[in-house]
Amino acid sequence: MSHPLAPDWLHQPADANALSVALWPANVSRNASGEVEIGGVSVSQIARQVGTPVYVVDGGDLDNRAKAVRDALSPPFAAHGMAVTCYYATKALLSADIVKLVMAHGFGADVSTMGELRWALAAGMNPHHIEFLGNNKSVPEIRAAVEAGVGTIVVDSIQEIARVNDVATTLGVSQEVAIRVNTGVHASTHEYLATAREDQKFGIARSDLDSAAEHIAGASNLTLIGLHSHIGSQIFVADGFVEAAKRLLVDYARLQQHHPLRMLNLGGGFGIPYTEADPVVDLHALATELADAVVATSQELGIALPDIAFEPGRSVVGPSGVTLYEVGTTKQVAVSTDSGDATRLYVSVDGGMSDNLRAALYHADYTPIIASRVSNESPALVRVVGKHCESGDIVVDAGYLPADVTPGDLVLVAATGAYCHSLASNYNVVGRPALVIAQGGEIHTSLRAETLEDIMGRDVGLGLGGTPGEKT
Ligand SMILES: *Cc1c(COP(=O)(O)O)cnc(C)c1O
Repeated sequence: MSHPLAPDWLHQPADANALSVALWPANVSRNASGEVEIGGVSVSQIARQVGTPVYVVDGGDLDNRAKAVRDALSPPFAAHGMAVTCYYATKALLSADIVKLVMAHGFGADVSTMGELRWALAAGMNPHHIEFLGNNKSVPEIRAAVEAGVGTIVVDSIQEIARVNDVATTLGVSQEVAIRVNTGVHASTHEYLATAREDQKFGIARSDLDSAAEHIAGASNLTLIGLHSHIGSQIFVADGFVEAAKRLLVDYARLQQHHPLRMLNLGGGFGIPYTEADPVVDLHALATELADAVVATSQELGIALPDIAFEPGRSVVGPSGVTLYEVGTTKQVAVSTDSGDATRLYVSVDGGMSDNLRAALYHADYTPIIASRVSNESPALVRVVGKHCESGDIVVDAGYLPADVTPGDLVLVAATGAYCHSLASNYNVVGRPALVIAQGGEIHTSLRAETLEDIMGRDVGLGLGGTPGEKT
């Protein structure tokens, strides 16, 4: 029987200690004493060594996953002779180790700011394998990208075309560009919406594409090589991608008559499970459906097959990362519902919306477990909350933990590898947690924890030695 405050999708587990295979990284398991290990390192050891909260990436799992994403996306297109480039979306999670790992599996990088660009370059990413996107790139950002020799700049407005050309002309280089297209397709998790012109800031409307292509053709130092679309995020089915690809191909075929187009970038957005209610995407099946649609549409239009690009972020790093917290307080809160009174067990942990904004920002759901021990108590409906001064400071809105969850327990939250560290803040003057990679019985710090000195050092008035820096 479900708890009256439990959402419909949430089912009470038979065993609150169990680790669902679909949700947890491959090398997360309970050891003989009932404690969870990640990559062979127990959570208590991680907590002792680096403290909590901490982001922990299962290094072996990430390695396999990055390879699996490539192996799912490329072959269905390669089977028809189409080359596939995968750009890892650095905004999902960025550190030198992550960049090196995805590079080792043949990924380039998708960046959208000066910071992401410089970080990817500093980590050793080949500039030719970098794609620079964004709806409002500054001139210094464009200059840095062109100067570095990035492979493609995806232009997002007509105004930007002249800006990129001015920079390329000043630097005396020729720059390949693609156009981000507002296809009017927007995919939500299980369906896509196709409106006449989607009401959002990204891309150039299909009706303005010819004009944009003319601007690029008329620009002395630019070459138009392709069209780009990114239809959303956390998508589980192929239909939105297929519809966007068909629309892009119609435009591609028409523009190709006058422009040297060769590439179709279909973006990222492949969904991952955050809870038992989310499906696991069969990425190979999705890519196969998409490849078949690209082939069929290209044949109908009588054009040669394009090269294909993708920009996965979440599906590469999301499921491989978890966050480890320590419980500080628990509280039974009486709640009256239509069907009578109920209590919700609030479990406060030592992080919160500063290390995982997604629940507050998107009402995202997550799955917690007690990682430091097993319990024979029956599962209790809990809300895992943080330590911030907001009632919306929620990490897991609804989940089940053993009813005896208590201060000092270590709680692990699944699937926090993407968009948790990258969206982290210093709210309430809390430092962003470390990110460690656990593998082969050892942990390796990829990003150290942010210290109070890091944060307070920005306050020039405190005279702590910080100097007014250069704005990025
Ligand atoms: C965010 C983003 C991605 C990555 O999306 P995921 O959902 O992480 O796969 C790819 N392309 C663009 C343009 C994006 O903005």
